[in-house]
Amino acid sequence: ERLDREIAEVLGLTEKREKDSELFKVFSEVFDRTTVETISYFYRRGKIERLYGVLSTGKEANVFAGYDAKGNRIAVKIYRTYTTEFRRIWEYLAADPRVGYLPKDIRKLVFVWTRREFKNLQRAMKYAVRAPEPIAFRNNILIMEYIGDEMPAPRLKDVEKDLELKDFEELYDFAMGAIERLWKRGDMVHGDLSEYNILIWNEPVIIDWSQATVKRNRMSLTLLYRDIRNIINYFGKKGVSVEDPEEKFRELAGD
Ligand code: ADP
Ligand code: MN
Repeated sequence: ERLDREIAEVLGLTEKREKDSELFKVFSEVFDRTTVETISYFYRRGKIERLYGVLSTGKEANVFAGYDAKGNRIAVKIYRTYTTEFRRIWEYLAADPRVGYLPKDIRKLVFVWTRREFKNLQRAMKYAVRAPEPIAFRNNILIMEYIGDEMPAPRLKDVEKDLELKDFEELYDFAMGAIERLWKRGDMVHGDLSEYNILIWNEPVIIDWSQATVKRNRMSLTLLYRDIRNIINYFGKKGVSVEDPEEKFRELAGD
């Protein structure tokens, strides 16, 4: 019951008693015992004081906006501990040379997935690729820097109709630059780079590093090619004079 009290506190339900609020509904979906305990763990340590909004509901995870105990905004990604994506997650983790023992239990596999995304964020930052700063992870929960102000930063996809050719050109350079720097300096590939995973803020920020992996991974060339192709296709359609994907791929991969 202490847990219930803490969760109610975190969700602001003690003041509003809106058990049918959008936040509560979305939260209930990932509201299993592990998640509740993990949130209360972070609550007691001041890492999560309050979750006040839903940033996204996805197949694998829901993302919430919140505050820590110091009043800093945070983004909290909570992975589902049951998921239909088990096969895909398993395949991606099995191919990653950084991941040792693979648990058979889906919950524990999701914990490994969450930890890997945290490590990926750290690694991306190290090679000066703009990503949300990783703050903490435990079990199926990842806390990171929140990008935005009262309103969360929009995705490139959300603002594309307001952009001009010049903006697309700059963003294309940003995205290709990130792919190159990650690969050459970081020995790393994002693997899901697209207009849905670039937030537009003071400077663009690349999010969603769950699929990212290292060069040594046997899937890394496939992922590299996918990123190059997606970025070139997208910006090509927006009128940017883009490079040839095959050529770009050979240039990066061929060493
Ligand atoms: P998914 O695997 O569900 O696509 P993402 O990591 O891409 O998960 O997050 C989903 C959405 O949540 C993003 O498209 C973005 O709108 C929002 N989001 C994720 N991380 C942040 C963040 N650090 N700051 C602000 N919004 C975020
Ligand atoms: Mn995403």
